[in-house]
Amino acid sequence: MSFSTLGLDPSLLATLSALGYTEPTPVQLAAIPAALAGGDLLVSSQTGSGKTAAFLLPALQRLYKPSPLSGMGPRILVLTPTRELALQVQKSTHSYGNGQRMRTASVVGGMPYGLQLKLLSRPVDIVIATPGRLKDHMDRRTVNLGRVELLVLDEADRMLDMGFQEEIDAIVAKIPKQRQTLLFSATLEGIVGRLAQRVTKNAKRIAIARVAETKPDITQHALVADNHAHKVRMLDTLLREEEVDQTLVFTATKRAAEDLSGELLGKGFDVGALHGDMRQRERSQMLQRLRDGKMRVLVATDVAARGIDVPGINLVVNYDAPRQAEDYVHRIGRTGRAGRAGVAVTFLGAQDRHLVRQIERFTGNVVSMMVIPGLEPKNRAFGPINASGPRGRGAFASRALPGPATAANGREPSRRRGY
Ligand code: AMP
Repeated sequence: MSFSTLGLDPSLLATLSALGYTEPTPVQLAAIPAALAGGDLLVSSQTGSGKTAAFLLPALQRLYKPSPLSGMGPRILVLTPTRELALQVQKSTHSYGNGQRMRTASVVGGMPYGLQLKLLSRPVDIVIATPGRLKDHMDRRTVNLGRVELLVLDEADRMLDMGFQEEIDAIVAKIPKQRQTLLFSATLEGIVGRLAQRVTKNAKRIAIARVAETKPDITQHALVADNHAHKVRMLDTLLREEEVDQTLVFTATKRAAEDLSGELLGKGFDVGALHGDMRQRERSQMLQRLRDGKMRVLVATDVAARGIDVPGINLVVNYDAPRQAEDYVHRIGRTGRAGRAGVAVTFLGAQDRHLVRQIERFTGNVVSMMVIPGLEPKNRAFGPINASGPRGRGAFASRALPGPATAANGREPSRRRGY
């Protein structure tokens, strides 16, 4: 399958080929022709599936024709849950729209109003916004949404999780009814389904299976942890594994992210923290250091880590287990980027007994229980853990590399289907 059959303009095809994209991902294959046809879409797809290009390419193609409406407001509005994701999408508009004359503005919380006011007071083609800040601008009458012809809701489930429902409804009410709406979400059920009913018309549903070909290579392990000190010792061991390039560590709270990064710093790691209490500038600097390879370990909270796309991350550690399987999928999707292999390791406390089954059911992947020799857990809530499985197979075991951890449930560490 190639991009050339999807109905995209030759100049966009040339850009994709320059980017080295040889074939569309499943979500792109299904969504691009449908979006170009002009109808509304409800797309269930995971992060890392190539969904950004699936909506941006049709969006950029739309800009080739002049707007029927005069005025200043954006023609395309993309709503995202976090500033990181918004900035990532904005960056993608420039890589996919290489050479195209277009004006973009990101309108996100945590950034000064001044620049946003300036950008919104001039003609702009694409606005990428988080709902809270965009609603502020609407209330101040500093943005005109009367020209929007394409509305994209990216990661709609997450926006609702974050409590943005009212803002989204208020924003949509100001957008002309004759628009096209593309809604992307990990799930289309429940509250997302109800939002979809309110904001789309005769939408076509596109379900991209969770077990997608685009993420084939994330090996997943779980380790039983007794307490904080045990977790730190296990993390220390994993971080010192030779094959580990860059690591993203998830904690449950902002405070824990700060504390753990301080502790790792004390152990000599190049480490930083990323969470929602930091100023945007600090967050951007932190991500840049990671991208530039100046930092090996980033300790982050769920929300702050969304949208991180750093190919060097080949280990994700769930220091605190995720609350639900969806969060797990988003977290581990930060590794295995750009076709590279990745490893995801989850530390399980006594209260996380059922999580592995839940994750396995949700993702269709196998998560193999492991122990690190010398760091066996005392916690028996999970039943006996047999540390004498196949020896010397590390967290990177499926790559047949030596390492300290051992498969504990008798199952081969998986290098199964991704999600
Ligand atoms: P996304 O799900 O939009 O965050 O995309 C995940 C990653 O896949 C990004 O690094 C994209 O640059 C990359 N990507 C998207 N589409 C393709 C494609 N057709 N071929 C190769 N890489 C792609």
